[in-house]
Amino acid sequence: MSARRMLLLGPPGAGKGTQALRLAAKLGIPQISTGDMLREAVAAGTDVGRQAQGYMDRGELVPDAVVIGVAEERLSQGDAESGFVLDGFPRTAAQAEALDALLARMGTNLERCVALVADEDSLVARLLGRAQIEGRSDDSEETIRTRMGVYRAQTAPLVDYYRKRGILGEVDGLGSIEEVAKRIEEALS
Ligand code: AMP
Repeated sequence: MSARRMLLLGPPGAGKGTQALRLAAKLGIPQISTGDMLREAVAAGTDVGRQAQGYMDRGELVPDAVVIGVAEERLSQGDAESGFVLDGFPRTAAQAEALDALLARMGTNLERCVALVADEDSLVARLLGRAQIEGRSDDSEETIRTRMGVYRAQTAPLVDYYRKRGILGEVDGLGSIEEVAKRIEEALS
């Protein structure tokens, strides 16, 4: 596993967060989740949080300009120089292009994109279970369906974007955390 600048892509509930954290810990690089950063901004009541909250509660995407600002600031921090696992960013073509441009300005590039693949009904069931445990405000069934639709329309096209670049690995996202982690490592090697 030699890649150190990578991105996990996949629909809501596919286990991106869990896998990104594991992978980042294993490689000693930061996991960068725009969802986590936006939730922190909402909790802290910052300008970014105020701009993001309504979209997040509805399960819609926060506008590109806001998210790109958050991601760029985080990627510019020193600990991301040795690598990073992006989780939940980019989610639109404009974000993917902004990421490419930022990395190019930093004199680097994205080495690998791992896409987690799973069928929608299993994911909805998984998210509804998680909603009961975590009480996330964006995990009602209606919001979950919205998030799936947003993924299909706006984020799924990025799979092709990275395939064309020759840096895509597709991994079956259903199974135990261990099994999926092993498949991801294989896709990265
Ligand atoms: P996540 O925890 O990654 O599922 O993100 C939770 C919510 O934060 C999403 O449903 C969006 O409202 C917002 N969000 C996180 N990352 C992005 C992004 N890259 N672009 C737009 N909205 C985002």
